[in-house]
Amino acid sequence: MIPPRPEDPFLPRMVGYEIQRVPSYRAVKAYTCPGCPQTVPAGQGHVVVWPVGMVEDRRHWHLHCWRLAVRRGRVA
Ligand SMILES: [Zn+2]
Repeated sequence: MIPPRPEDPFLPRMVGYEIQRVPSYRAVKAYTCPGCPQTVPAGQGHVVVWPVGMVEDRRHWHLHCWRLAVRRGRVA
């Protein structure tokens, strides 16, 4: 698991969701971003988001796609 980090002021937050940065050196797998939906390639820094208390439902987002979702106020 990703260790807890100090609060990141540049990371957009949404009520009801936990979010953490995945730095490029920890991005060892490709994922499908639920926001675009395009691939988040291995080696690209991104964010992982999950509903509070449901870490098994985590999804990997491009940071800009997550930022847009927060601006919309919903994840889908
Ligand atoms: Zn995306």
